[in-house]
Amino acid sequence: MSTDTITTTDLSNLWMPFTANRQFKAHPRMLAAAKDMYYTSAEGHQILDGTSGLWCVNAGHGRQPIIEALHRQATNMDYAPSFQIGHEDSFRAATAVAELMPQGLDRIFFTNSGSESVDTALKIAVAYHRARGEGQRTRLIGRERGYHGVGFGGISVGGISPNRKTFSGVMLPGVDHLPHTHDLEHNAWSRGQPAWGEHFADALESIIALHDASTIAAVIVEPVAGSTGVLLPPKGYLEKLRAITQKYGILLIFDEVITGYGRLGAATGSEFFGVTPDLITMAKGISNAAVPAGAVAVRRSVYDAILDASATGIEFFHGYTYSAHPMATAAILATLGIYRDEGLFERAHSLSRPFEDAAHALKGTRHVIDIRNLGLVAGIELSPRPGAPGARAAEVFAKCFDKGVLVRYTGDILAISPPLIITEKQIAQIFSTIAGVLGTVD
Ligand code: PLP
Repeated sequence: MSTDTITTTDLSNLWMPFTANRQFKAHPRMLAAAKDMYYTSAEGHQILDGTSGLWCVNAGHGRQPIIEALHRQATNMDYAPSFQIGHEDSFRAATAVAELMPQGLDRIFFTNSGSESVDTALKIAVAYHRARGEGQRTRLIGRERGYHGVGFGGISVGGISPNRKTFSGVMLPGVDHLPHTHDLEHNAWSRGQPAWGEHFADALESIIALHDASTIAAVIVEPVAGSTGVLLPPKGYLEKLRAITQKYGILLIFDEVITGYGRLGAATGSEFFGVTPDLITMAKGISNAAVPAGAVAVRRSVYDAILDASATGIEFFHGYTYSAHPMATAAILATLGIYRDEGLFERAHSLSRPFEDAAHALKGTRHVIDIRNLGLVAGIELSPRPGAPGARAAEVFAKCFDKGVLVRYTGDILAISPPLIITEKQIAQIFSTIAGVLGTVD
């Protein structure tokens, strides 16, 4: 596609998500193709994918086994309803997902996105307590700066104010929030988990004292908060959340939409941190983003309680037309096969040290006030331009794109999360491009 084609394309009909539409349409930035570590722009330039698309193409782009599986599936059976009817791959995909989950979380509910996974998990938590005769446990606890997608459930437990403020009067009632764990004064420049900040989990005890445990269904957190700008859990923090929730019979949900499927060098953040929640939400890397897909892994005892409470008929009135869509289950099975056959989680683990070193080499670069990293994710925080928060990072993003590297930004934080197939040379290219661009930005 040439530049001419772009300017003659009518951009007016599409309402773009999470995008400055007017700004974009005035200066469009178009992708035309993708293979392995690279996008090709509409102008034919190669763009190194430093963000796995949107944290989701963990095995790299255009992978042949997935393409072939989708082709086979589309030819054989395009769609199958999943209410009261099954298709074999939905069960196989559930087993394959369960095998990667922590011990005990082996009941799998399929969705199509992270947002749907979150809302599904919140509903399962409430249904579980009701099934056990504790129907008053409806309160949900999220965390400041948390991102749990865009459903009403997700924005209610989420803590990103621009996503919430328009809807503040119509969000779920009875939600409270833990404080976030980020404090530049104490945990800046952390390589891996910060040593300081475990005490932030103590706020859960205060929230429980305020509302009483008997009213609380679940706590939901991202093990590593991604979308808000890569906030790492302090050492001991997740362990403490687990201990407190367990003490009070509150379910713990890890939102692993980003941390699942190798981002930290393990199948899940739960495995990486050695902390097992009761439910895990996932999407993105589950299907390598080739087809929209998501899932919730549920502790077997939670599933059993909900099924046992129902004498006959449908036990849980929830599901999507596209739950376990045949194209999604085909993509999931092929994707998990690639992760296994190519040892990509192990690869991410072994690359995490050179990745960390390359990221932290930016210390001292103009505008950089913090660098933090874990596995194959790094956050680079910039000082905001006076009176124009976010403008500096936006400019870095645009200039990196022009120089052939895709990065992401939230506010003034750059986030790097490349596909797990990345090479050390490509890692160096990402960070040296950012360093070069920072030198040119006011
Ligand atoms: N939860 C987390 C932790 C996420 O990072 C995201 C997306 O980035 C979501 C939920 C929402 O996923 P989706 O955009 O697929 O609905």
